[in-house]
Amino acid sequence: MERFDVIVVGGGIAGLSAAYELSRTPMSFVVLEAAPRAGGVVLSEEIGGYTIDGGPDALLVQKPDGIRLCEELGLGSRLVATQLPRLAFIQRAGRLHALPAASVLGIPTRVWPFLRSRLFTWSGKVRMGAELFIPRRRDDSDESIGSFITRRFGAEATQYLAEPLLAGIHAGDVDRLSLRALFPRFAEAERVRGSLLRAFRSSMHRPADPDGPFRSLPGGLSEMIRALLRALPADAVRVGMPAERAIASAGPQPDSDPRLPPPRFRVTTAAGVPLEAQALVLATPAFVTGAVVRDLDADLARLCSEVRYESTATVALAFRREAVAHPLNGSGFVVPRTERTGILAASWLSSKWPHRAPDGAVLLRTFFGGARDPRALEQSDRELVTRSMSALRPVLGIRTEPLFTRVYRWERASAQHEVGHLERMAAIDRAVARHPGLFVTGSGFRGVGIPDCIADGRATGRSAARWLGQWVGEVK
Ligand SMILES: Cc1cc2nc3c(=O)[nH]c(=O)nc-3n(C[C@H](O)[C@H](O)[C@H](O)COP(=O)(O)OP(=O)(O)OC[C@H]3O[C@@H](n4cnc5c(N)ncnc54)[C@H](O)[C@@H]3O)c2cc1C
Repeated sequence: MERFDVIVVGGGIAGLSAAYELSRTPMSFVVLEAAPRAGGVVLSEEIGGYTIDGGPDALLVQKPDGIRLCEELGLGSRLVATQLPRLAFIQRAGRLHALPAASVLGIPTRVWPFLRSRLFTWSGKVRMGAELFIPRRRDDSDESIGSFITRRFGAEATQYLAEPLLAGIHAGDVDRLSLRALFPRFAEAERVRGSLLRAFRSSMHRPADPDGPFRSLPGGLSEMIRALLRALPADAVRVGMPAERAIASAGPQPDSDPRLPPPRFRVTTAAGVPLEAQALVLATPAFVTGAVVRDLDADLARLCSEVRYESTATVALAFRREAVAHPLNGSGFVVPRTERTGILAASWLSSKWPHRAPDGAVLLRTFFGGARDPRALEQSDRELVTRSMSALRPVLGIRTEPLFTRVYRWERASAQHEVGHLERMAAIDRAVARHPGLFVTGSGFRGVGIPDCIADGRATGRSAARWLGQWVGEVK
């Protein structure tokens, strides 16, 4: 039977980040990945001069762990900023309205751009401005993003900002997602300053990044995955090897190294191959983590399986430039639930990033599914393309059929940190602590976006190494 110091299950960005940290220690490790490729939802493709991200395409600069990892992997000089003008649009009554300049995730930091915007009604603007005078909440329990924004800024702000933007980036339900887990900065601003408008207006004195809030890589974010794989030992990642379950190991074997503690965990793959290790890092979606540990700890399994996931699909569509009447002067638009166009959002990938489409062509991408449309993935590729065209044609003035299309399906891939997530996470941490050497990471647990998954994956890899170092460091 093969034995390692650490087994990492799941080769998405979180698992690879944990493995990257382990590769900088003397520990032996292996990454078991179910799919035929590593990267999880990070998937970029080059097709006929187009560079398409089927999953994530942007690294948030404000959370520096994504950028820092790229720099460590030698990709620092390849990072690209979004192109000018850095505008994002919101659809209302069939028209696209630019999100007013000077806002933090849609929350205004200056009054005039909001007053001039036609995205909101006058009564909506007055209500948003009244946020300055809304008393702070005394109760410090968690609440949904929808409840928080409606309480402070009114229903129109939830309908046209919070729902499509804040919940939209998580493909989630604005009335279920947790403010404290996902936007702790907002809760903190209310607690400390009594008003978000006041808090964010003063934060505007800090200089914004001149290159905008996001970065990507010219070949798409898969460049980062390829660089990570290059940084790991050649045979460290085994693809097409789903882990089926983990149990406590049977104890010392005749060929065990007597200087080391006996292996604690035995992982069996779906093909029935057993592997053993001292430490086990589960970097899988929380419902998979729950299934893998079911025989180890039923309580932990239940807690993990309670983290909800939503499914999404993205559709990439290429056109000749002259086939699209709209200037595509920004990164794309989001569609509030009430607009009912069938899509959640559309990115103008070739306007947002440099070199995503050949000269004279444009690359667009639509988003489907999430909490708003949980049955979206039941549609065929052809139906998703048809629905994309019906949603895009009237707002962008598209005159032809696409040159080509590509559909990406992400089944139960978007973790939902809903109200109460932090309490559930604390309970998960307590349950994990009952099993020394066991660690969990990934978007279902402490952070959803790529920078958070990298930060948590790396911290988890370091924790596993530190835990093992008690014995292994001394004998290697
Ligand atoms: C369409 C989309 C767009 C997004 N856009 C952005 C963005 O622009 N910026 C951003 O920061 N974030 C974005 N996100 C969020 C972010 O990409 C994810 O939260 C993050 O990549 C999740 O990484 P992960 O490693 O936790 O999970 P995953 O990527 O889901 O990786 C989990 C891995 O575990 C494997 N696995 C599953 N079961 C088993 C098993 N039994 N045994 C072994 N392996 C198993 C899977 O095959 C997978 O490779 C987006 C997400 C989606 C879906």
